[in-house]
Amino acid sequence: MLSAQLYAEQITAKWTGITGLHLSDAKNSIYFDPVITRPSIWDIIFFKNISSNKKLVDRWLASFNIDKTDAIFVSHSHADHSLDTASVANKFNAKVYGTLSTHNIAIGGGMKNKKNLVLIEHGQKHRIGDFVVEVIKLEHNPIIANFQIFSGENNEVLKQPASYASFKMGGAYVFYIMHKKKRIFYHPGALTVYDKSFYRSRRSDHMFLGIASRKSDTDLIENIILPSGAKKVYPMHHDNFFKPLARKVDDLWGVNLEQFIVSSGSRFNIIVPQVGEAILL
Ligand SMILES: [Zn+2]
Repeated sequence: MLSAQLYAEQITAKWTGITGLHLSDAKNSIYFDPVITRPSIWDIIFFKNISSNKKLVDRWLASFNIDKTDAIFVSHSHADHSLDTASVANKFNAKVYGTLSTHNIAIGGGMKNKKNLVLIEHGQKHRIGDFVVEVIKLEHNPIIANFQIFSGENNEVLKQPASYASFKMGGAYVFYIMHKKKRIFYHPGALTVYDKSFYRSRRSDHMFLGIASRKSDTDLIENIILPSGAKKVYPMHHDNFFKPLARKVDDLWGVNLEQFIVSSGSRFNIIVPQVGEAILL
């Protein structure tokens, strides 16, 4: 009886590169920012048109043993967070929770079941089986370059192939996940626009944290991680996403994961996720 109960509460997490995170319990699965297709830096610089590579998506998902997804949540609609939304949604007939920009990117990417599109707004709580996902909007921080470029919204369907720059941000969100007694913070952006009390009121046992474009290590540690009381922190968005997805990732220029680990000292556990590897939460 006890082991059956533990099984029901067990969550398996898989990081799939950039800020892609698949969470699964015995019954349901959620996939945040599912992006497998990674255009090169030259595609961006020369304004080449890009599109989701469905065969590549299928191949990698099979190799990760990801065979179900009920819900996809997209944090913002830059291409490195949204490009494969339709490919993954179609594969599993998953619902897509995102902004209007994300919806228009999904439709333009060939999303078959438009009834599966759900518009997100700050403060909502969405239940997917035993998962409850709180939607939290981040305000723009003009200092952070990552959130400054390709801003605006896709108010119309963005048909693929399309240029990298045409995937506009459409507002940036983080998601706070409650699952029975477990609390997981999916925090793909390194913005600290909320004060410490915001994080204190959302304790997290596990925090999946995008560390690209952070103001400083101290900023992330003092203003997000420590107030949330996170015991285990999993850095994301440190991989060079201009290179094709691989099991072993190269660091993105300037992100300096090693320095972040050193700065953290021993105040919490940093677990660097390996692409596709199952982590039990
Ligand atoms: Zn990004």
